Amino acid sequence: MNKDIARVLVDRYTIQARVFNMAQEIAACYHDSDDVVMVPLLTGSIIFVADLVRHLPMRMRIDVMAVSSYPGTATTSQGAKVMYPAEFHVSGKHVLVVDDILDSGKTLALVTDLLKKSGALSVKTCVLLRKKIATTQSMTADFIGFDIPDEFVVGYGLDYNHYYRNLPDIAVLNPCVFEKK
Ligand code: 5GP
Ligand code: MG
Repeated sequence: MNKDIARVLVDRYTIQARVFNMAQEIAACYHDSDDVVMVPLLTGSIIFVADLVRHLPMRMRIDVMAVSSYPGTATTSQGAKVMYPAEFHVSGKHVLVVDDILDSGKTLALVTDLLKKSGALSVKTCVLLRKKIATTQSMTADFIGFDIPDEFVVGYGLDYNHYYRNLPDIAVLNPCVFEKK
């Protein structure tokens, strides 16, 4: 796997330190809420959310949601679509959506809208990464780990064609990996 990596953009130690700080920011924001619903977006956020929630002291539910936007070998957004679940039980709850990366913002816009329509009391968003291009978009996130350049990244949960999620760092792939597809 390591031969496929062109360069590391954010290493594992920097990620861990920032995830800890983000958890402090989130805990401060929800300090008086004792019934939060975390909504991790599958599959890219699994490693991030697993690290994040273990630093969060408040009582919470973790209800995963599957949204497809980069199917298979796609490296640009194909438009967001919710695949799971069919219904959201968030009425009267404070919801925190957790995703791996904010790119066009379509995913977070779609999910935030659905959760609000399902009766959530509040909906906030948290992403580990924000692509530079996203800073010019209208959709932003309430909690952001790192701003990164507009490049396709993998690792720490993020995939290319279902692979590289287990890489501990956030990295850019060698161009030959895309040529092989
Ligand atoms: P948006 O809807 O904001 O354009 O895209 C967000 C989703 O696209 C993320 O949840 C993530 O699944 C996927 N995505 C966006 N940029 C990247 C990237 O650089 N690498 C990977 N692996 N997925 C990305
Ligand atoms: Mg995603």
